[in-house]
Amino acid sequence: MAYKSICEIQKALLGKELHLSELVKNYISDAESKDTEINAFTSFQFEQALNQAELIQKKIESNQAGKLAGAVFGIKEAICQEGEIANCGSKMLQNFKSVYDATVIEHLKKEDAIILGRVNMDEFAMGSSTTTSAFGATRNPHDLSKVPGGSSGGSAAALAANMVNASLGSDTGGSIRQPASFCGVVGVKPTYGRVSRHGLVAYASSFDCIGPLTHTVADSALILNAISGVDKRDATTSDIPVADYLTQVENPVSGIRIGIPEEYFGEGLHPEVKEKVMSVLSELEKQGATLVPITLPHLKYAIGTYYILATAEASSNLARFDGIRYGHRADFKRIKEELSKEEKAIKKSFAAAEANDKSGLIEALAAVDSPLIRLYKESRAEGFGAEVKRRIMLGTYVLSAGYYDAYYGKAQRVRRLIKQDFSEAFSKVDVIASPTAPTTAFGLDENQDDPIQMYLNDIYTISANLAGICAVSVPAGTDKNGLPIGLQFMADSFQEEKLFNAASLSEKQFS
Ligand code: GLN
Repeated sequence: MAYKSICEIQKALLGKELHLSELVKNYISDAESKDTEINAFTSFQFEQALNQAELIQKKIESNQAGKLAGAVFGIKEAICQEGEIANCGSKMLQNFKSVYDATVIEHLKKEDAIILGRVNMDEFAMGSSTTTSAFGATRNPHDLSKVPGGSSGGSAAALAANMVNASLGSDTGGSIRQPASFCGVVGVKPTYGRVSRHGLVAYASSFDCIGPLTHTVADSALILNAISGVDKRDATTSDIPVADYLTQVENPVSGIRIGIPEEYFGEGLHPEVKEKVMSVLSELEKQGATLVPITLPHLKYAIGTYYILATAEASSNLARFDGIRYGHRADFKRIKEELSKEEKAIKKSFAAAEANDKSGLIEALAAVDSPLIRLYKESRAEGFGAEVKRRIMLGTYVLSAGYYDAYYGKAQRVRRLIKQDFSEAFSKVDVIASPTAPTTAFGLDENQDDPIQMYLNDIYTISANLAGICAVSVPAGTDKNGLPIGLQFMADSFQEEKLFNAASLSEKQFS
C-alpha cells in the first residue's frame, strides 16, 4: 500500500485520494494473507471495521470526523472491548467476553478510530517474546524464525507487517518498547497515571500502563493526545493538563540535553546495538544537542526489584481467576467423582485396618480436599501456563509472613532509590537515552529454558516502570542481518513532550 502512517492517510482521505473503505479492505486482505504465518491476531472484526469505514468516510466528507479517522487498530488481548473476548493470552480467559469498553477504547471510538482485530500477547503480559501465549507464538515479520518481543508482540508484529497502522499495547516492565524495538516501530510507555487503566486486565497495578505502537513518532503523539487524561474510574490517573504532543513533533527543539547513563552501555549490550545507538546520538549532538554523561547507580538492582514487586502484585491480582468468579472452570462432575472414590478407598482401608493403624487413616481422610477447594486448585492448574504459575508462586513467597520485610519491604525501598536516581538525573538533563534492549530479536526457541536470561531482556526498560516516568522506543537502524535496533528515550513524569521532541529529532535521521 502506498500509505503507511496515519498522518499521511489522513491527508489522503481529506484530499479525496483515498476512500476509507478501500484502506480497510487493503488491511483486511493483507491480514488474511500474512497472518497465517505471523499469528499476530487472535481474532478479527472485519465486518464491524467495514461498516465503521462507511460511516466514518461520510463524516470525513462532511468535515465531522474525529481526530483518529483513518487509524486502523489492533488491540492487545489484555484491553477490554465490549462484546469481544479478552483472553489475555491465557486458557484461563479464553471464553471471557468483556461487558464494557476500557476507557482507552471509548476514546478511540469517540475519535473515529477503526478496530480491525485483537492481537496476541504473552500470557497475562508476563514475558518478552509472545511465546507464552496459550494461542501459539507470534512471529517477527522481519524474520519468521525470530520472536517479535513481548508481551505486546502481537501489537508490534501486526503493525510491522502493515496489517494495521496502529496498535495499543500495555507496558509493565517494557512490553510496549521492547517489541517496538524488535519489530522496528515506535512504542510509547506514558507516565504512570497519564492514560487510564480502567478496562486493562491487571498484571502489576503499580507498574501497568497502556500506550500506542505506530509507524511514526507523529502517529504516536496523535494517539496519545486522544487517550490521555484523567478518568474517574481509575483513581491513579492525573489531572495534570495534557500537552499537545503533535506540536512538539512538528517543531522539535534541537538544543536539548541528553543524559547518557554509563550503566546502560556496559556489559551485556551487543556491540552492534551499542554502535547504532551511539551513532544516532552523536548525530543529534552535531545538530545541537548536548550529550551529558550521567550515572544511575541503583540500576543494577532494577531487575531484582521488579521481579519481587511485580510478582507480588501479580499473585494478588491473579487470585480472582479461580474458576468461580472468573475464568476457566475444571470439570466439577469429574472432580466430585474422583473425590468420592478417594474417600471410599480410605474408608475401605479403615474398615480393614488394625486398631492401631486407624489414626493415620483418619488423618488421611481429613486431608482430602472439599470439592470446592479441589475445584479451585484444578481450575488454576489447568487454566494457567508455566510462567504465570512461576510468578504466582514467587509473588506469594515474597509476600508470606516470614519473608515480607526481607523481600517485599526492601524492594519497595530500593524502588524509591531508583526513583531518586532519576529525579537527580532529570535536574541536569531533558531526556535520558539508552538502547531499548540489549540485543536484536532472538530465535523463537532461544531463552525458553532459562527464565533469568529471558528476564534480562528488560534490563533497560524496567527502571522507567519502577520510577513511573515516561519512555519511548524509536527505530535506530538495523543490525547486519537486517533486524531492527531500538533507541530508548526516557523523560521525567508528565514530560511526554520532551520524549516526543527527542524521538522526532532521531526519527528525522532515517527519513
Ligand atoms: N518482560 C517483562 C515481564 O515479563 C515485562 C512485561 C510487561 O511489560 N508486561 O514481566
